[in-house]
Amino acid sequence: MNEDPIGTYQETHSNLEAASLGGKVALIAGAATGIGRAGAQLFAREGAKVIVADINDKDGQQTVTEIKKQGNDATFVHVDLSYVHEIEKMVNTAAEIYGHFDIFWHNAGVFFPGHIELIEEQNYDKEMAIGLKAAIFGTKFAIPVIRQSGGGSILYTSSMVGLKPNPYNPKYSLTHSIEKGALIMLMRCVVEPLINYNIRVNCVCPGPVYTPLWERAMVIPAKELGIDPNVAIKTAADRSPMKRLIADEEIATAATFLVSDKARGVTGVAFPVDGGFSAV
Ligand code: NAD
Repeated sequence: MNEDPIGTYQETHSNLEAASLGGKVALIAGAATGIGRAGAQLFAREGAKVIVADINDKDGQQTVTEIKKQGNDATFVHVDLSYVHEIEKMVNTAAEIYGHFDIFWHNAGVFFPGHIELIEEQNYDKEMAIGLKAAIFGTKFAIPVIRQSGGGSILYTSSMVGLKPNPYNPKYSLTHSIEKGALIMLMRCVVEPLINYNIRVNCVCPGPVYTPLWERAMVIPAKELGIDPNVAIKTAADRSPMKRLIADEEIATAATFLVSDKARGVTGVAFPVDGGFSAV
C-alpha cells in the first residue's frame, strides 16, 4: 500500500533540485558503442557509478577508460546477452562490483533488415534473443538486486518503429519492429508488479541515430549499391518532421531523466526521441 498517496512534494523537493544520478549505480547492457556509450558517459557525469556490460570488450573497455579520464567511476563486464546463463552472471557480477545497483538499462540490440517475405530464421532468433529475451531475463535477475537497494529504475531501449511501423522504407525490418514493440509490452506487463518494489520501468524510443548499428544497417548497404551515403542519411532524416537524425546525446539525456529521481512519478512510459516521427 502507498502510505503517501499525495506524493509529498515538499519532502522530496531538494532531491529533485539535485538533478543528478549522484549515489546511484547503473548497469547498462550494451554500452560499448553508440547510444549506450553516450548514456554511460552521461550517467557518469551525472554522478552514477556505471557498469558497462557488452560483448565488445575493446570498445567496452574504451568507454570505461573515457569515463575514468573524466574523473568518474566505471567498470567493464563481458557478456554475451544471447545466453540466459551469461545474463545471470552479468547481473551477479555487477551487484558485487559496487555492492549493489539501482538502475538496469537494457540497451543492447542488433538489426537485420527484411519484411515478411525476406525474414530469415537465424537473424530473427538472434535479434529476439539479444533484444527481447535478454530484457526479460535481465529484468528477472535485476529485480532482487534493485529491491535490495530499496528500489530504483529499469529502462529498455525500444525504437520509433516499436511505436509506428515504417514498411515503405526499403531497409525496413519486421523483426526490429516486433522486438521493439514487444519491449513496450514487456514494460507495460511489469509496471504494476514492480511498483510494489519501488521500481519504475520505462522505454526510450529513439529515432535514427548515426551509430555503428545504423551505419551497418543503412549507410554501408547504400554504399555497396553505389548510392551516395549522404542520400541515405537525407532519406532517413526526411522521414521525421524535424528532417534530421537524432544525436546519441539526445537519447542519453532522455534516458538520464527517466532513470533519475526527477522522473519519480514516471513509470510505464514509451518516450519517443524521434523528431516527431511516431506522432504523425
Ligand atoms: P550499437 O551497435 O552502437 O550498440 C549496440 C550495443 O549492443 C553495442 O555496444 C554492441 O556491442 C552490443 N551488443 C550487441 N550484441 C550483443 C550481445 N550479444 N551481447 C552483449 N552486447 C551486445 O547501436 P545503437 O544504435 O547505439 O543501438 C543501441 C540500441 O538502440 C539498440 O537496442 C538499437 O536497436 C536501438 N535503436 C537504435 C536506433 C538507431 O538509429 N541507431 C534507433 C532506434 C533504436
